[in-house]
Amino acid sequence: MEVQWLLACHGLVTLLVLVSFLCGNWPIFQGTFIQRIHFFLTFGAYDYFRRFIHFVCGSRGSNAVNSVEYYFCDRPNPILQIMYLGIIGATYYLIATSSFSYIPGYYLSGQHRFMSFLAVGVGILLFLLTSFSDPGTVTSANVPQYLSAYPYDNIIFSEKECSTCRISKPARSKHCSICNRCVARFDHHCGWMNNCIGERNTRYFMAFILWHFLICIYGVVALALILAGRLKELKVIYILTEYYGIENSFRALAPQVVQWLLGAYNTQILIMMFLALVSLLLAGFFTYHAKLCLTNTTTNESFKWQEHLSWQRKVSEAKASAEALKASLDELGQERKPQESKWKSFFRRSRLEELEVVKNNVYDRGFLNNIHEVIFPLSTRRSFWANKSKSG
Ligand SMILES: [Zn+2]
Ligand SMILES: [Zn+2]
Repeated sequence: MEVQWLLACHGLVTLLVLVSFLCGNWPIFQGTFIQRIHFFLTFGAYDYFRRFIHFVCGSRGSNAVNSVEYYFCDRPNPILQIMYLGIIGATYYLIATSSFSYIPGYYLSGQHRFMSFLAVGVGILLFLLTSFSDPGTVTSANVPQYLSAYPYDNIIFSEKECSTCRISKPARSKHCSICNRCVARFDHHCGWMNNCIGERNTRYFMAFILWHFLICIYGVVALALILAGRLKELKVIYILTEYYGIENSFRALAPQVVQWLLGAYNTQILIMMFLALVSLLLAGFFTYHAKLCLTNTTTNESFKWQEHLSWQRKVSEAKASAEALKASLDELGQERKPQESKWKSFFRRSRLEELEVVKNNVYDRGFLNNIHEVIFPLSTRRSFWANKSKSG
């Protein structure tokens, strides 16, 4: 019983930390302890760490922390790339050493030894392709094509020159301070890839996330089939009912079977839990990016829209409060309207803002065209370079 309570508490704490970390800055959690946990996890903890180092080692310690931070966060570095290779390699190695001896098994044919190797190989290939491909660097040679391909909407993009590259900044592009170059249709700088995600490699990036989601699901299903096969081959149910006299019902057998699996195959179960968790994260990440691709928006643009909308909201709030002040002076003594609940205003606002973005996004050309643009970037098409030879 105590163990069950411990497990329940552990699950609740994990959930709280995950929700706080991922969603703690949503408007719905404003002013709650979830927002405070989010602040602590994303900023506070690191700040305390820095102060602690300063307290213990003085300014030399602080400088060392700053230079490590600068190298890790502000300079191109392969640390996360090495970490990705480490994680995928270690997981595959663990699966191979712990479970390949059961392949072929009762439910799994011998081909899966080869297929799993192939699946991981394709994953690494997609990783290399995303990491080392050109994201769509804007140069003086291709800038006229990007300028004509993406008109300025004069809402979130207006005519500008990049102060570092000294060339016009096409709409949808951004100067990446880590890579020190302007990237067309800039999405974000990906630390895991040590590369920008932009006009030319969003397709590889999307394929990478989708493929890794599928590998994780494949791993969970294959390991579950191995365990089910072991259960069948070792006649566990038969032994439990015949020799241990346990009732032949799901309710009576399930705890015994789970206990046996946890004892005999804990490595496989831990790997399955890890893969399930990663697949959930990847599913969320893929859904987010797929939604952006379908509406022809980038992560960078979605932040710009948020900024634009919050600025607009502030302006309209200022107007409304000025009007309210005037009205309250006019109608002193009238009853105030009850305040709208936080939940209601949260959903109302996000829905309206979404409509606002959909209405004003000039780059959204219908979802089929949008998908086409991601899979076949402009700069890979012949017309793009034909324009160049005409203009140059
Ligand atoms: Zn630039
Ligand atoms: Zn970059």
